[in-house]
Amino acid sequence: AVSIARKAGHTWLEYQPEIEPNADDLRLLKEFHEHGMRDFYLVYQPKLDLSSEQITGVEVLLRWNHPTLGLIAPTKFIPLFEESGLIKQVTRWVIRQTVASMQRHQLCQRGLHVSVNVSTRDLTEAGFVSFVKQAVQGIDAHCLQFEITETGLIDDSERALEVLTQLSELGIKCAVDDFGTGNSSISYLSKFPVAELKLDRSYVFDINNNDRNLKIVKSSIDLAHALGLKVTAEGVEDFAAITLLKQLGCEKAQGYVIARPLAEHDFIALVNSPFQWSASS
Ligand code: C2E
Ligand code: MG
Ligand code: MG
Ligand code: MG
Repeated sequence: AVSIARKAGHTWLEYQPEIEPNADDLRLLKEFHEHGMRDFYLVYQPKLDLSSEQITGVEVLLRWNHPTLGLIAPTKFIPLFEESGLIKQVTRWVIRQTVASMQRHQLCQRGLHVSVNVSTRDLTEAGFVSFVKQAVQGIDAHCLQFEITETGLIDDSERALEVLTQLSELGIKCAVDDFGTGNSSISYLSKFPVAELKLDRSYVFDINNNDRNLKIVKSSIDLAHALGLKVTAEGVEDFAAITLLKQLGCEKAQGYVIARPLAEHDFIALVNSPFQWSASS
């Protein structure tokens, strides 16, 4: 298909998008073509270990501070990069930056696990595993984790299985992100070598007032444990939810009540401080 961009004479667009981008998307793509990753940066959202009440991990999230449009949400630009085939270079940048940051701050040596979000497109990309193998040279690969959404695993499940197996051989663990939002959740939990399940925010945020969500969260935790997976609850917004999640046996929690995604130096300051998390504080 000849894209709108080509018809409009945007010769900088070097790919054939599957979905024709609208004017807003074209603006973003043009900006990306001109400046690459220049205005991108990473933020760090801590993960709280519910038994030790310590920060034992962190998720890296991408931010785009567009010179004229301001901060653009990843929920807007990630799908665009996925559709346009640009995600490959974006993910590689994120992984390189993350590894550099892990080295700079000795995150492995401090026992911190670092998670990076990876798209399906990345998993099925031919050179991905060899890129990763190269990228983790300077760190202990066991500290790195990839988060993959459910849909990511079902699209090309044979290939996904192969790649996840190769990644686990490198020492890299994988997590199923946004658990509960896809459509074949249970089948792939037993099929794929994943170490962690991340409960989607839409089930977690109101477990104290929503009995149905509480039941879903409880049974997902039990299912994960039965299959040997650890559970992280995402989008935890109040103290009462932390207490409840701990009672349900959930291992880790992430959310605004613990910390928002932080700038690198703020995250480092947090892990350097004698962190005492308390539900009563
Ligand atoms: P995700 O991986 O499920 O990340 C969790 C999202 O929930 C993040 O949004 C985070 O800021 C937000 N969040 C965390 N705690 C809370 C809370 O207590 N309340 C609420 N309301 N929100 C909370 P963000 O950073 O906007 O990212 C959205 C999604 O974009 C991510 O969802 C992930 O799928 C994707 N994404 C972000 N960075 C990357 C990246 O580097 N690569 C790829 N492929 N995807 C990324
Ligand atoms: Mg994630
Ligand atoms: Mg998630
Ligand atoms: Mg989510």
